[in-house]
Formats: sequence, C-alpha cells, structure tokens
Amino acid sequence: METIFTKIVNRQIPAHIVYEDDLVIAFLDITQATKGHTLVVSKAPYKDIFEIPRDLFKHLFGVVHKLSGAINKSFNPLGINLLNNNGIEAGQTVFHYHVHIIPRYDLNEIDIKLKNNSSNLNVEDYKKRAEMIITALL
Ligand code: 5GP
Repeated sequence: METIFTKIVNRQIPAHIVYEDDLVIAFLDITQATKGHTLVVSKAPYKDIFEIPRDLFKHLFGVVHKLSGAINKSFNPLGINLLNNNGIEAGQTVFHYHVHIIPRYDLNEIDIKLKNNSSNLNVEDYKKRAEMIITALL
C-alpha cells in the first residue's frame, strides 16, 4: 500500500533526504522532536516489524548504525534514542516500516520514560513470561 513515505521515496513530496540506497531511505522527521531527528525507512512499504523480511531488517539496522554515528558526529548530542513503533497502541502513525533516530541533548526535552511494574510481580511471573518467549522461539 502507498504511504506518505512512498511519496517521499518517489519524490512526489519533498523531504530532507540524508541517505539512500536501493532498499532504504533516510530523511529528517518533519517534527524534529530534537535537532537531527531522522527516520530510516524501508523503500518497500512493509507495514511493521512483523512484515519486514529479516535480511532487509538487518540491512536497515546497518544504516541506522551508520547514521547514528553521523548524527553523533554532526550534532554532538549527549545521547541517542532509537525508536520503532509497531501498531497503533505502540504509537505507530505511519504504517510503513521505519526507525526513529532521536539525538538527545537534555533528559527532559521528550518523555519516553518506562514504567517499573516489578513490584507487582514474583519470580514465577518472570519464569512464566520467559518460558513463553523461549517456547515461541522453537
Ligand atoms: P510513527 O508515529 O509512525 O512512529 O512515526 C511517524 C513519523 O513520521 C512521525 O514522527 C512524523 O512526524 C513523521 N512524518 C509524518 N509525515 C511526514 C512527512 O510528510 N515528512 C516527514 N519528513 N516526516 C513525516
């Protein structure tokens, strides 16, 4: 399915492109949540992590690694968050696989703090959860 990112790939709408190869394109996120906020996008419109083929995923993460280094060199941030939302409930708004590279300059400029639920859990809960994942890997 065509998405807004397909339109960027096809040069139908403008974007500040910072990297491109046969499989992947990267451009500045329009919001610039922080200075240098960049999206790394598969050219083919796979919806999410469950659709994107593993080889392409590996290649895309190689590009994420390369661009993180370039962003680090360019802007000298104090840290970098990588973010990939899959599904509406996870905050995905564009259903075309992408990874956000978000350089950080200040702890409080954006809020992606995770809640600690450990006080509601016992060791059996952890064991059961780990076993479910291990079984699904088989
Ligand atoms: P998601 O919410 O799906 O993880 O991220 C989608 C991102 O795409 C958002 O951060 C949003 O700002 C960005 N975005 C949406 N439309 C455009 C656009 O037309 N151009 C650019 N450069 N970014 C876009």
